[in-house]
Amino acid sequence: MTQALLHGDHHVHSTFSDDAVSTLQENVAAAAAAGLRTVRLVDHVRQSTTWVPEYLTAVRALRVPEGLTVLTGVEAKILDASGGLDIPELPAGIDRILIADHQFPGTDGPLGPTAVRERIAAGWAPADVLDQLVDALIRVMHRHPGNQLAHCFSILPKIGLSESELGAERIAAWAQAAADTGTLVEVNEKWTCPGPEALVALRSAGAEIVASTDAHIASDVGRYERILPLLDAREAH
Ligand SMILES: [Zn+2]
Ligand SMILES: [Zn+2]
Repeated sequence: MTQALLHGDHHVHSTFSDDAVSTLQENVAAAAAAGLRTVRLVDHVRQSTTWVPEYLTAVRALRVPEGLTVLTGVEAKILDASGGLDIPELPAGIDRILIADHQFPGTDGPLGPTAVRERIAAGWAPADVLDQLVDALIRVMHRHPGNQLAHCFSILPKIGLSESELGAERIAAWAQAAADTGTLVEVNEKWTCPGPEALVALRSAGAEIVASTDAHIASDVGRYERILPLLDAREAH
């Protein structure tokens, strides 16, 4: 099971993202060289992004080696507690949106980690913070079904909390929403999350997981190390 997962990389950035250095073609070549069967080419969008049609044209022009499947995607942050996403109008051809917790989903819009830490220091109860985050994730999955959660819960250490504080009830509700909405959940090498408890809950709920590196350079495509213990711990359950 784990071996099959590691033959895919469902989150690879190209030069369409400001902070990545390899071209789409370099990433495809690296995926084939790493023995992958599936690679999802993904770049960062905002509501103002205009290059998505150009990206799709470039993907269609790629030379794809035999045995490799190329999938498409865009990565967008969750905007607020109601489950809005920072995406432009998307043309046909984008297979999945990667739903990212780059900021905390506040009631009136995204909150940076420092702002959340300050509010917690000023008395915002961690249990309420966790409820708001998990509720937002569940809302976004229902509003935008059939997509993919990117590095889910990576926001928690940034705001001074951890996945271990989520508790079984919140994790079960989150996992059930992923299953009910056909949301893929990636196990992310760069951020090393979600952890084993969440992965076991996803399996119990019948939700599907995929592996991803979140590579920003071709040499990282398909190379897994840090998520292996997470996947082993899940297998041991
Ligand atoms: Zn991200
Ligand atoms: Zn990313």
